[in-house]
Amino acid sequence: MRFSFEVPMNKPLQAQGGVMPSELELLLKLQIVDYDLGELERSKEYLPDMMDNLRTEIEEAKTKLESTTAEFNEKKVTVKTLESEIAAKEAELQKYQQQMMSIKTNKEYDALVAQIDAIKEVISNQETELLQTDERLTELEKEIAEYGDKSASAEETNSRQLAILQEKIDSIGDKVEAKEGERDQISTQISRSTRSVYERVRKGKGGSAVVTVKKRACGSCYKALTPRKVQEIKKGDRIHTCENCGRLLFWNEEVSN
Ligand SMILES: [Zn+2]
Repeated sequence: MRFSFEVPMNKPLQAQGGVMPSELELLLKLQIVDYDLGELERSKEYLPDMMDNLRTEIEEAKTKLESTTAEFNEKKVTVKTLESEIAAKEAELQKYQQQMMSIKTNKEYDALVAQIDAIKEVISNQETELLQTDERLTELEKEIAEYGDKSASAEETNSRQLAILQEKIDSIGDKVEAKEGERDQISTQISRSTRSVYERVRKGKGGSAVVTVKKRACGSCYKALTPRKVQEIKKGDRIHTCENCGRLLFWNEEVSN
């Protein structure tokens, strides 16, 4: 079974320990909540897709089993038909062979031999077909057992997963509500001006609005920062943005230097 969905961006960094300007810390928290909200929004698309895939798998396994069973039943009928046709031809052959005893002329003899040869050929062809049909029946029997197992396990496994996914879908609304509450609670602690920078970058750029400085460059667009800007970001007394991509920058001693 296959789950196919992509997380379109990396989970944002958690606030690092140590000295962290509180507004930046709040922005990072806000960013995580926004990421989670985005994930919940995306899950409204990919969870139903995953459910469709699981249902399709169940259906396909069932259809395969049904079509194999249908072919098996069809071949059974073919065997019965061939057997009765062969029996009829053999009775006919016996009749001709008895007529041989009372043959009077060469002409009659030749005609009868031709009839016997023709009927023998028909019987031989039908016996070959019967043999092939029997072989196919043996294969089909194995396939039916195999597809039966597959179908039963797809039904069982996928139904369980479907129930889990359905629960997830059903709980999205509550989760969104909780996250929005959390978002409001964090937002009110951030100044209006910082919040508006954050919102503008988040909506305009997509992905993370707050990024860590990496090797003295913007962690998103990799634009190098001037030594003076680095000093200011390190101080952390106000919000700094990347002059190239506009994202909000914060310092993390482990990766920023
Ligand atoms: Zn940048």
